[in-house]
Amino acid sequence: MPPADNLMDKLVSLAKRRGFVFQSSEIYGGLGSVWDYGPLGVELKKNIKERWWRSMVHEREDIEGLDAAILMHPKVWEASGHVAGFTDPLVDCKHCKNRFRADDPRIKGTPGQPDAQCPVCGSRGTLTAPRMFNLMFKTFMGPLEEAAAVVYLRPETAQGIYVNYLNVLQSSRQKIPFGIAQIGKAFRNEITPGNFTFRTREFEQMEMQFFVKPGTDGEWFDFWRHERMKWLVGNLGIRAEKVRFHQHTKLELAHYAKDAYDIEYEFPFGWNEFEGIHNRTDFDLARHQEYSGKKLDYLDPATNERFVPYVVETSAGADRTTLVVLCDAYHEEDVAGEKRVVLRFRPTIAPLKAAVFPLVNKDGMPELARRIYDDVRNHCNAFYDDGGSIGRRYRRQDEAGTPFGITIDGQSTQDGTVTVRDRDTLAQVRVASDRLVQFLGDRLRG
Ligand SMILES: [Zn+2]
Repeated sequence: MPPADNLMDKLVSLAKRRGFVFQSSEIYGGLGSVWDYGPLGVELKKNIKERWWRSMVHEREDIEGLDAAILMHPKVWEASGHVAGFTDPLVDCKHCKNRFRADDPRIKGTPGQPDAQCPVCGSRGTLTAPRMFNLMFKTFMGPLEEAAAVVYLRPETAQGIYVNYLNVLQSSRQKIPFGIAQIGKAFRNEITPGNFTFRTREFEQMEMQFFVKPGTDGEWFDFWRHERMKWLVGNLGIRAEKVRFHQHTKLELAHYAKDAYDIEYEFPFGWNEFEGIHNRTDFDLARHQEYSGKKLDYLDPATNERFVPYVVETSAGADRTTLVVLCDAYHEEDVAGEKRVVLRFRPTIAPLKAAVFPLVNKDGMPELARRIYDDVRNHCNAFYDDGGSIGRRYRRQDEAGTPFGITIDGQSTQDGTVTVRDRDTLAQVRVASDRLVQFLGDRLRG
């Protein structure tokens, strides 16, 4: 494998070349740390989200789905603590106008003092003392830009779940313990974003809030922690040696959390968090009860006990998980003296499942290939490619992570069989074209 920093550059370049990820507004020079998913990227991310939704919502009787709006009542963010506490201490350079986190290790000296040195322009004494800066994006609702109409783009999807918890409980006739799952966009005005799609200002979360009786929260916390790790390795196929838990120390714990574990992946730029499991106690529901004046406690029908439920949260970044899958899939290898770059996605999450190639563009091969392609894409996302040598077409699909390459050759027009090339083993088998869909289906399930 290439050195780590180099690996990230290669991945960014492949992501653009093959249509996974593009920089936002690139023709205007790009917008800082905002990214767009191209034709292959949108499929990959969608497949990951669909698998999450299936395991969380469809395969469990005790979790319901929700899609809450991005804009919420401003009081929500007062109750959640985000207005007062969701802040970073920042310093400005009065000379070059750059802004940094106060704990940026590149800053030499103490910001606000004459000895402090700006890490960008190198000026001394130009850094301001740290000031608190809220990370929520603000916007204005209605035609007048007046304070009364200030709303925020949500910095997490979780609050949409808390404020709907009674609606869901009553309409679904669930009983505690039960959960609510949601996939949606969230926004944070990060001051030091970076590392490709790892830290971005607009991102998508896959969050599940599990409501439990106080006292059972520790058990459920352990359950969900292990369940999530099992899913990442068993379902997405992430290599077990590349993921680990990191338990938050007292200092790292968020204001609402009693216990928290990050799930970290060994990215080319080091171990970093891409999912978290948090015991949020009754903090959020109790605060919403206080701020809204509405009763949010639960009456246990079995014991007649009343309590405000505790919440165990599993919070994953859809973009970060997609980046994990990309990094984990990337392989370079030597095939017969030639370098091959291949993305080894699990077939279930690969953007394209199969590519269909006529060996040459004559002798009835393109017509047969077209018919086979139409048949295959009725069942799964497939690609047709008749450009260039067959070796180059295989190579392009290796870079796209397409698990199966189907070639229609001279023999195909005689006996109706095609070759199916396996992306990982490079083994080729001949399959009767009328059995092809079944053959692929068996390998794409799971
Ligand atoms: Zn400066």
